[in-house]
Amino acid sequence: MPRIAVLSLHTSPLAPLGGSKAGGMNAYIHEVSIALATSGWEIDVFTRRDDPALPEVVAFAPGARLIHIEAGPAVVLETEELAGLVDEFAAGVEAFRAHEGLRYELVHAHYWLSVAAGELLATRWGVPHLAMFHTLAEVKLRARASEREPQARLEAERRLVLACDRVVAATEHERQLLRQIYGVPRDRVAVVPLGVDREAFRPRDRTAARATLASRGVPVSDEARVLLAVGRLEPLKGFDILVRALAQLTVDAEVVLWIAGGDERSAPERARLEAVAHEVGVGDRVRFLGAVPHEELPTYYNAADVVVVPSFYESFGLVALEAMASGVPVVASRVGGLVATVSDGRTGYLVPWRCPEPFAEKVDLLLRNEPLRRALGEAGRASMERFSWESVAERLSALYRETIALGAVAAAS
Ligand code: UDP
Repeated sequence: MPRIAVLSLHTSPLAPLGGSKAGGMNAYIHEVSIALATSGWEIDVFTRRDDPALPEVVAFAPGARLIHIEAGPAVVLETEELAGLVDEFAAGVEAFRAHEGLRYELVHAHYWLSVAAGELLATRWGVPHLAMFHTLAEVKLRARASEREPQARLEAERRLVLACDRVVAATEHERQLLRQIYGVPRDRVAVVPLGVDREAFRPRDRTAARATLASRGVPVSDEARVLLAVGRLEPLKGFDILVRALAQLTVDAEVVLWIAGGDERSAPERARLEAVAHEVGVGDRVRFLGAVPHEELPTYYNAADVVVVPSFYESFGLVALEAMASGVPVVASRVGGLVATVSDGRTGYLVPWRCPEPFAEKVDLLLRNEPLRRALGEAGRASMERFSWESVAERLSALYRETIALGAVAAAS
């Protein structure tokens, strides 16, 4: 079966999610690789070795392998430090390929660092190159989701979006941005949304979920209202807005906020959020759960009354999908990919970003109205039918076949 080289230089698809470095992109590569391998492709995912104890090759599903490439010191490095390691990484991937005597039909690269490596490899191998950027620095700046981005990244992305054979975008909105900001022609961008595991994330009894969490050391009474936020602890996620919104709620109930995500590297952001919570008088109602193992997260969604996604920007926003698949209403910022996945007033609410008042208003509305929560939750669950990882893999398979065929035509002419 044809073999695909998937590049994920800066972060591993097997990294635990929700720390400071691993989130939606890792989940995407992991889930999609398994689904593609199940449909017959041989998937080799390459990532940089950041721990000397890691074996060179890890088979993580039948037909899907993760290969650790030596490039720079085998320790966790800041993303900014990795730009200088792109050539070494690409050389390592080529050495692995040559040693195993493999032929890759296509390169699928994730995030600009991998796309830079992908350009070198696809040129060397004479095969097509698909690029998925996940976030783009210029887009973050324009969305005011970031104040400063490295010049090297800005320049590299401007060049790479045009140099690859096809960009894979998660939403139609991203396709428009690629045309407006970078001048990428429409037909050079394929829109393939992300997915959600609707078996793992599905509605379950809330009382039973809370009992399970109590046994795991996260007790909460049946009467309490639980707001849940999930994501890497970084300012971009807007959790401070949510903490302020919690202080503004007027509903006559005990409301607690759980924040899942974060590790020792995100200690400064956690300290900042704790300070905000104390400042607005809700310090005792915010609980930081740390990074929750992905397989344990469904229980947290099932125990929650409302999931809030107050991000300043999301290129897609898997957390909103997981909440909807779990049948829990979502209150999310009206930004980026969330606009394509949350249907305002039907599966949740989309509100203006960066200010707590609209979040507080919609959360109050939902907490006061159980039938409304149920109706939105049910509509959310139903709307997730079109977001399976299998259908993502089907669309990617079609794109791979088409791009490989076009490459073959170009090579022959
Ligand atoms: N996640 C997790 N445990 C945590 C926090 C996050 O498993 O403690 C997962 C979450 O379920 C989701 C991903 O990390 O699948 C975050 O993806 P999203 O697209 O929402 O955000 P990104 O990390 O891409 O900014």
